[in-house]
Amino acid sequence: MSNESKNIERFRNELERLADELAIEAGEPPAFTKARASTDETANLVDSALKNLASGRRRQILQALRRLQQGSYGICADCGRPIDKERLEVIPEAGFCVACQHGREEGAESRFKEAQSDEEYV
Ligand SMILES: [Zn+2]
Repeated sequence: MSNESKNIERFRNELERLADELAIEAGEPPAFTKARASTDETANLVDSALKNLASGRRRQILQALRRLQQGSYGICADCGRPIDKERLEVIPEAGFCVACQHGREEGAESRFKEAQSDEEYV
């Protein structure tokens, strides 16, 4: 097995583990591994905000698994450059490189500031 496919295998395991963990938190049956806790029991412990958070991240993780299957995993969806390995270690479901992610966040922030400064002059 080459180093590259070992890496892919490692990220696949990690993503599948995260997807199942979040599925359990969302009160849904895990798709990849056997449940380690009773889903009923866990579902009773989490509130809906946590469920939303979990299903939001799980959606990103499932998208990452799909990219892994299609061979585009670890490639920035914006600029097409490879995403840093260090970034994938921390956020294995990341779909954008650091630069593009920052660009997107700054874009959202400046739109927010514009909206705020509009209000000041009303
Ligand atoms: Zn990028």
